[in-house]
Amino acid sequence: MIPPKFRAKQIFNWIYQQHVDNFSQMENIPKKLRNELEERFVLSPLKIVQKQQSSDGSIKYLFGLRDGHTVEAVLLKMKDAQYDEKGELIHHAKYTVCVSTQVGCKVGCAFCLTAKGGFIRNLTAGEIVGQVLEIKKDNDIASNRRVNIVYMGMGEPLDNLDNLAKAIRIFANENGLSISPKRQTVSTSGISTKIKKLGEMELGVQLAISLHAVDDELREELIPMNKAYNIASIIEAVRAFPVNTRKRVMFEYLVIKDVNDDIASAKKLIKLLEGIKSKVNLIYFNPYPGTRFERPEPEKMKKFQEYLLSKGLLCTIRESKGLDISAACGQLREQELEGVTK
Ligand code: SAH
Ligand code: SF4
Repeated sequence: MIPPKFRAKQIFNWIYQQHVDNFSQMENIPKKLRNELEERFVLSPLKIVQKQQSSDGSIKYLFGLRDGHTVEAVLLKMKDAQYDEKGELIHHAKYTVCVSTQVGCKVGCAFCLTAKGGFIRNLTAGEIVGQVLEIKKDNDIASNRRVNIVYMGMGEPLDNLDNLAKAIRIFANENGLSISPKRQTVSTSGISTKIKKLGEMELGVQLAISLHAVDDELREELIPMNKAYNIASIIEAVRAFPVNTRKRVMFEYLVIKDVNDDIASAKKLIKLLEGIKSKVNLIYFNPYPGTRFERPEPEKMKKFQEYLLSKGLLCTIRESKGLDISAACGQLREQELEGVTK
């Protein structure tokens, strides 16, 4: 008899490298076992409900889950494939997939559309991993191609820590997708206690903090949870987080017109991040119907960035990738729920 461990490896390979749709395609697995698997497990927990292509090449997906709820994921092409004059490939395209971890979210940020519908449920590890599998399949991305994962879709990943950790490990498994934790970034709105816990799990993932404000008063207004986990507690948790020697902690700063786009805030940001190996990512607020917030002026954004750079802080501006496809997560789902895109 072939040992079960070996079978597990084979099954893993069929699912994560061959991208099969059902157990009957697993040719080297005995029929009896295939039938048993068919009865007990689901291979494709997600169906593509909607797909929108942006002019910059990113593709946004709305996935239907088996209970009828929907979540979003985005395939971002960071770089196009490059060919020489003979048509030979020089560089592969660079892919990043932004995945959701929950249906809805409990955190309730004032600027976020996902927060509007409240919290519905956690995604299972299978549903988290499934988003990447479906996207790879849909775009014919070869199994050996490098893909980065960012947990920046809908939901607060650290509110679903057990399933998140499972997904990180499944992604990383060398018999499967082989996506090293170094290439997986967990973005959190700052649940300090859970940041500590994630660090203690020693998974080797990258950390991104959705900071968005430099004083507690404003941050509480934007992210109500800041009352329980204030900025100081987040910074303390970040300092304790094991960061890969060649990497930095990313601080996301959503820039909102006349709210947090002033140079005084940039100054405070520098003080706050003193001594932390960090990188700041400035994000344009992406407006949607009914929000009281506005997108900042590009000149203000540039000035903010230049100030940080002049003080030696690494800082990039995240062009709203696929602004024309309502890039901020939660926006496609909301349109679908309201029937806007139907
Ligand atoms: N819950 C986690 C990860 C998902 S949110 C977190 O908050 O970090 C993913 C990102 O989308 C966050 O950085 C958030 O700031 C951003 N986001 C939410 N609403 C947005 C909007 N209207 N415009 C631009 N970015 C937005
Ligand atoms: Fe949740 Fe992140 Fe949206 Fe805040 S920004 S409500 S934490 S998904």
